[in-house]
Amino acid sequence: MNEPYPDFDELFASISEAGLRLSSIAASEGAAGNISLSIGWQLEVRRRFPFVKEFTLPVPVPALIGKQVLVTGSGRRLRDIHLDPVANLGVVTIAEDGRQAHLYTSPNCLFERVTSEFNSHLAVHADQVARTGTNFHALIHAQPPHMVYLSHIAAYQEQDMLNRHLLRWEAETIVQLPEGLGVIPFLLPGSPALMQANVTHLREHQLVLWCKHGVMARSAHSVARATDLIEYVETAARYEYMNLVAGNRAEGLTEDELRAVVQSFNVSTPLL
Ligand SMILES: [Zn+2]
Repeated sequence: MNEPYPDFDELFASISEAGLRLSSIAASEGAAGNISLSIGWQLEVRRRFPFVKEFTLPVPVPALIGKQVLVTGSGRRLRDIHLDPVANLGVVTIAEDGRQAHLYTSPNCLFERVTSEFNSHLAVHADQVARTGTNFHALIHAQPPHMVYLSHIAAYQEQDMLNRHLLRWEAETIVQLPEGLGVIPFLLPGSPALMQANVTHLREHQLVLWCKHGVMARSAHSVARATDLIEYVETAARYEYMNLVAGNRAEGLTEDELRAVVQSFNVSTPLL
């Protein structure tokens, strides 16, 4: 991201908007879903988040030393962030050893800890920042129902099959996700195994499916872009579901039609 860098109000607005959009597609029931941003420029934290406590990170992240991670609190509802962003968000600053951190919160903070998926957020930010040097990185975990439903069907847990079936409904899906979705088998929420799988799969993909649970999307451009990716795959999954329910009547875009799309949009994809 280039200067002038977004300030807190702009970042709050983008996270609030994402929370409302994810809620509008039913991808964040109750307190499901979480959002974090890794920020490489210095924001004046203590004016908005004056309370501070020290804690040990779930995983050492030397790549994030000196960076700030804006993250949703555990148990907070994505659809409520817009009502009071500072009450629902905290800022984690990573200390010089890459292991200790400070959590800054506001006087009206509504949570005790950051999101339970924080280990995945942190490890993926660190991996992406180390690999690409980006000064901005957004991650969103959400639970879009049609996508999650398909992931309960064994055949759709196979990555090639899943991509072939999802990318056939709208021409823009392959343009937006030319590498397709990555697939992670069911792993315990918040576990080190899920964290490691996210790191590996999000190197190759912008969005990964957590079977029988949800998705995680990343963007080095904007929160809106990561949200868009979730909307694209949930829309594709809804078409796929409709087609299953309708007895597989639709053809979908053929491989030749998809090939014409990627040629005309100059998209390089390993999927065709
Ligand atoms: Zn979840």
